[in-house]
Amino acid sequence: MRLILVLVLLLTAALIIASFAMAELAAAEPLPANELGRIMILEYHKIDYPEERWTRTPENFRKDLETLYARGYRLQSLSALLEGRVTVPAGTTPVVLTFDDSSPGQFRYVEKNGALEIDPRSAVGVLEAFLREKPDFGRAATFFVLPGADPPNRFFNQPEHVTRKLRWLVDNGYELGNHTLWHANLGKYDETVVRGQLADAQLWVQKHVPDYKLRTLALPHGVYPKQVDWAVAGTAKGTTYHHEGILMVSGGAALSPFAAKFDPTRVPRIQALDRDLKEWLTHFDKNPEDRFVSDGDPATITVPAAQRDRVRPTLPKPLKVVER
Ligand SMILES: [Zn+2]
Repeated sequence: MRLILVLVLLLTAALIIASFAMAELAAAEPLPANELGRIMILEYHKIDYPEERWTRTPENFRKDLETLYARGYRLQSLSALLEGRVTVPAGTTPVVLTFDDSSPGQFRYVEKNGALEIDPRSAVGVLEAFLREKPDFGRAATFFVLPGADPPNRFFNQPEHVTRKLRWLVDNGYELGNHTLWHANLGKYDETVVRGQLADAQLWVQKHVPDYKLRTLALPHGVYPKQVDWAVAGTAKGTTYHHEGILMVSGGAALSPFAAKFDPTRVPRIQALDRDLKEWLTHFDKNPEDRFVSDGDPATITVPAAQRDRVRPTLPKPLKVVER
């Protein structure tokens, strides 16, 4: 009897070890390139305490970065993605980080020994600390800022540091995006107001970062204006705006920018909450063929041969399609 028990225990131990070894193997095996797969564009709001529907704590944000890194995701610039320029290394999956509403916890300066430093518990501080450890994660994120909102959402809420912050972001590989002047619900207004909101946001950013062009728009509340072309491009009060992508507040993973069905005026996002993030990471683990995997060459698009007809007939720039 005792012998059987020992045998059963040994067998169980062997099975556990074997399953760990299998998991290791599975993790180590590189995924084949598939540049028609889908991409997560993650949407963060507040980075602060406590964890809530619209708030991620700095610790949980850090955990998100660790999880993404460990599972083979690398940061991708949103505007490069919309241009059709995927910059992440071969075998990895691009992921885009977006931050809406320029709340204080996204980018805060604190004084330490008489000098200003980026608060390590603000989103930018957490990201930068992570990148010092894992520089190959890539440096990219888009901040959809509000130049004319009431405090605390006006440009991260430290009026004395606005210029410094916006320039720091732009100089360090991050992007700024349009989120209207003060979070206007664009569905409520006529064309003049809608265009004015978008142009004014552009104008106010340029007061701090001359000539900077906001290339993407995140719709406040996810609401479209009565005509989508009002949001795409135009001129109001002497300021011209042009958005290469219009982002929604939900909708799941985005189609590849190389897919025929990709619509730059309807780019979906995933809200970076524990539940949604887990759900999508599990989805891509279970359905690796649905996941965008880079071929490492920004000049080519590698696609499964059977899906060749799903590639956009007109690509954003001259790109060579490679079948596998
Ligand atoms: Zn918003």
